Amino acid sequence: MSDAPFIEVCAARKVYGKGARAIPVFDRLDLTVPGGAFMALMGPSGSGKSTLLHAIGGLEQLTAGSISVAGRQIVGKSEAQLARWRAGTIGFIFQFYNLMPMLNAAANIELPLLLLSLSGNERRRRVEAAADLVGISHRLRHRPRALSGGEQQRVAIARAIVSDPPLLLCDEPTGDLDRATSTEVLEILRALSRDLGKTILMVTHDPSAADYADQILTLDKGRLDASRNTA
Ligand code: ADP
Repeated sequence: MSDAPFIEVCAARKVYGKGARAIPVFDRLDLTVPGGAFMALMGPSGSGKSTLLHAIGGLEQLTAGSISVAGRQIVGKSEAQLARWRAGTIGFIFQFYNLMPMLNAAANIELPLLLLSLSGNERRRRVEAAADLVGISHRLRHRPRALSGGEQQRVAIARAIVSDPPLLLCDEPTGDLDRATSTEVLEILRALSRDLGKTILMVTHDPSAADYADQILTLDKGRLDASRNTA
């Protein structure tokens, strides 16, 4: 893990809606994530965890405040700029995998590479390398519905890392999995952080999933508290 901040959120404020319908989520929220860290983000339902994760991923605009990722300010960027930036910087991993049902596992993993100008051979090589890293090489020709939840999440992780982004944003990545399969997925995430230096921010409500992280952040009533994980 490096000490240089990789993610810096300063004085972040988020309010959904306006006037009498305004829903304040957080205010004056600061967060620093060092490069290569594996951080868990916990807190009650509705506390704003997904909102914060999406703001860091440039999917949700802040009402006020700033966010920099890898030294780049993302607030105020256009949609097109954000899309290009996301493609090279972030892999997203969701609770329900978000795979394309009509595409087999290899084609799902390949999707982010279609935004880059790579030859078919190079794309194939990268898909195979990513699938190998997460242990799903034997299922590449199957469509998602022929795969178990754990296998689908491996495909989703391979898709998230195939373009080698430095940051992985995970929203309840084990929320739909049984304990044994969750453990396998969390071991993969930990290895991606420890061995490949990926910075990982993972929203979870499961304390045993959070135990895999280096640090646990808790968001509650608009306040963010950090505790070092001693597990
Ligand atoms: P968490 O991930 O911690 O469960 P969320 O970030 O999903 O919390 O939501 C935080 C608050 O913002 C909740 O009160 C939720 O209802 C509200 N919220 C989330 N998204 C929207 C939206 N698009 N429009 C209005 N309110 C929203």
